[in-house]
This record gives sequence, structure tokens and C-alpha cells, in this order.
Amino acid sequence: MAMIKVRDVVTAFGNRIIHDKLNLTVKKGEIYGLLGPSGCGKTTLLREMVMLQPFQSGSIEVLGKKVESLREREAQWLRRHWGVLFQFGALFSSLTIAENIALPLQEYAQLSPAMIEEIVAFKLSIVGLKQSDASLYPSEISGGMKKKAGLARALAMDPTLLFLDEPTSGLDPISAREFDALILKLRDMLGLTVVMVTHDLSSIYDTLDRVAIIDEKKIVYEGSLDDIASVQSEFVQTFFKERL
Ligand code: ATP
Repeated sequence: MAMIKVRDVVTAFGNRIIHDKLNLTVKKGEIYGLLGPSGCGKTTLLREMVMLQPFQSGSIEVLGKKVESLREREAQWLRRHWGVLFQFGALFSSLTIAENIALPLQEYAQLSPAMIEEIVAFKLSIVGLKQSDASLYPSEISGGMKKKAGLARALAMDPTLLFLDEPTSGLDPISAREFDALILKLRDMLGLTVVMVTHDLSSIYDTLDRVAIIDEKKIVYEGSLDDIASVQSEFVQTFFKERL
């Protein structure tokens, strides 16, 4: 079943075309990677999927709804069904970890403080943070813990879809591999569908079921990593060199 359908999407900034008719499909339950050289428009496509960035033409359907033509009520419904962890996935520095995780619950759900506290405790535990971390401020925790806290916040509303923008960038190799394992575990445990922008080769091979490669404004490949060697693209031949 398709969770996201990108059809003929064209994106331009001024008269500079970034995407020239992109097509891809993300299926239920997969961890799907958006790959490509720096500046090819991976983050831009992710932002288009979550309605943070308009595009010139084409269509993006998420959970059966076309994001380019939504009424506010439908847009709100969609926002409640996904979680997003951006690269600089800013936790609010003036709020504790628990308060950061509670934020979407306070914004979107009508729940008692006791219920929110219970949900926050559960989210902390599923991302592998300790309950004693709840009262710390972002400045008091490590980079890996910040990513986990950001992930817990993205999962606050029990989303169906999870969007991750370079989740392992800036992490040391051990924390990065730990984060990969966490994503795999949560996908299985929560039945998530995950869309991830990444250029971390270990993450790519350890977590992704399928990928789309954007190069020269087009999707040059969509599929599993098994068939990547046959792709005629300079980016693919260089980037995957040590694995081909
Ligand atoms: P990286 O791997 O380096 O993060 P990316 O593939 O995610 O890159 P994007 O950040 O999506 O690339 O940017 C794609 C192109 O669009 C870049 O050339 C960027 O400069 C340009 N761009 C992105 N956002 C804007 C904007 N708001 N206004 C003008 N140009 C933009």
C-alpha cells in the first residue's frame, strides 16, 4: 500500500529548477531513503512532503491526501499523523526534555497533565532515554541524547509516518549505529513507515529497504540497494564505490 506518492513534481527557486518531474512511491512499513549529491534537493523534497515548502507543479499524496490542495482541517489531520526530526532538530533550549516531548501533545491533543506525563515517560523509554533525563535541559545532554529526545518528540502523537533529515549527521560512529538500531526497532515495534534523508553509508546499508536517488534534477533510480551497481550515474558510481 502506498503511503506517499510523488508525481511529476517540479520545484524551482526563482528560475533555477531543482526538481524536474520527480516520481516516487513510499510503501507502508518500509524505511525509504532519499539519496543524492549535496544540493540535489533531498531536504527540499522532504519539506514538500510535510507541507513546509510549496512546489511549482505535480502532486504529492500523503496518506491518500494531496498536500498541494488541502483545506486547513485536512492539513491539521495530516500533521497529527506524522512526526518529523530535522537535521538541526532544534529542541527548545528553554524547555526540559520532558517539556519538549510534551509540546505536540499540548498543542494537538486534549489530555490531562497526568496523562501527558505518562505518555512522555513511555516515549522516553522507547527511545532509550532514562526517566531521570526528563528534567534535564538540551544543553545538559549529549548529541546522541538530543537526537533521541527529538525522536521522542516526533513520536509523541503516535505517528504513522516518520520523516528524518540526516538523523546520524554530527553523531560519533557508536551513537550513529545505536540510532540506526533504534530506528529499525521502532519501525518494527510501532509499525512505522520511515522516510529518511541521509548520506551515511552505514545507515544506508543497515536501515534502508528502498531508496530514491536524485541526481541532475531527476530520480535516476528507485529500488533496493541490491541493484544499485547497474545505475549509470556518476554520483552512484562514486558514492557507492566501496560497496559495489
Ligand atoms: P545537502 O545534502 O547538502 O543537505 P540537499 O540535497 O538536501 O543538500 P536542499 O537543501 O534540498 O539540498 O537544496 C537544494 C537546492 O535548493 C540547493 O541548491 C539550495 O541552495 C536550494 N534551496 C533550498 N532552499 C532554498 C530556498 N528557500 N531559496 C532558494 N534556494 C533554495
